[in-house]
Amino acid sequence: YGPRRGIRGNFIPPIKSNGNSAGNVTSRIAGKSEDALDDSTKKCLDLLCGPDGELPEKLRNLEPRLIEHVSNEIMDRDPNVRWDDIAGLDHAKKCVTEMVIWPLLRPDIFRGCRSPGRGLLLFGPPGTGKTMIGKAIAGEAKATIFYISVSSLTSKWIGEGEKLVRALFGVASCRQPAVIFVDEIDSLLSQRKSEGEHESSRRLKTQFLIEMEGFDTGSEQILLVGATNRPQELDEAARRRLAKRLYIPLPSSEARAWIVQNLLEKDGLFELSREDIGTICKLTEGYSGSDMKNLVKDASMGPLREALTRGFEITKLKKEDMRPVTVKDFENALQEVRPSVSSNELGIYEEWNKQFGSLA
Ligand code: ADP
Repeated sequence: YGPRRGIRGNFIPPIKSNGNSAGNVTSRIAGKSEDALDDSTKKCLDLLCGPDGELPEKLRNLEPRLIEHVSNEIMDRDPNVRWDDIAGLDHAKKCVTEMVIWPLLRPDIFRGCRSPGRGLLLFGPPGTGKTMIGKAIAGEAKATIFYISVSSLTSKWIGEGEKLVRALFGVASCRQPAVIFVDEIDSLLSQRKSEGEHESSRRLKTQFLIEMEGFDTGSEQILLVGATNRPQELDEAARRRLAKRLYIPLPSSEARAWIVQNLLEKDGLFELSREDIGTICKLTEGYSGSDMKNLVKDASMGPLREALTRGFEITKLKKEDMRPVTVKDFENALQEVRPSVSSNELGIYEEWNKQFGSLA
């Protein structure tokens, strides 16, 4: 039966390090040898350490490579989108400012009765600016944004999604104020139940709800923004946690005009008259913001294609050889770029908005 062990044989006393090892990664990551970490991982962990050189409690039991992935791939230090970059949606912008930006900027005022919800849902057709709003919230509130799409969680991180979610919320809590933007949140918090649901995605969902519950009750300045094109798939628990639900509709005629003008102006290609713009707006009823972007791209190819048919060679072509973009170019582009949202689908969003939206 082997040698007898003394009463303290193999006993490792649970004594915390005495602090002499501050700055030494080995002491901060349980069970990892420093040699096993490469330089980029060490650097990333160093950035997350407190003034005492220790890794915050929440991160100590997480895998360094997941912390690194969250810091390098999911966290965006410079979202680079401002309200002025987003066409239309004035009402949504106003609500978001009041509901989430002010509380992030002035947590001292937004306490008690004024304490904000921690979850915001942006729902509506694809390509209408939901992601842009998420980025603008972070930009306007000077917060760090973490951007994750659920399909990347379930495809790239099979079986590990749950751990990545823990790392995500852990790093976010060290980077407050923070905005966690979850694209396609419906596929994470959907109401489809057990049968088809894999064990791993069920665990992922549970982990997510646990993390959300955690920061909902605490004084943490973390906001979760979920975006979805399929709000009807969300279950009741998810709706409860995403207390504010804003409908982000298709762009109005003015917003479409703004997108066209703004994109062409950026490239010095804008020479359309007011009337031309009016015609384009009439022809693009039902187009989303991203459809409009694709349309402008296609229309701006018109002058180039024409110059080439006139005999210019692409390698020798100068800017001056191309005429300005015209309404005709847009009419041609309309044959190629069709609206991506049907009126049937719009009906579903409007109905859901009436039932569950915050501003219906
Ligand atoms: P969603 O998240 O709603 O699917 P995005 O915010 O990713 O859509 O928008 C996709 C692209 O479409 C943006 O990068 C932008 O070029 C364009 N776009 C969509 N909506 C707007 C808008 N309201 N103002 C300006 N551009 C827009």
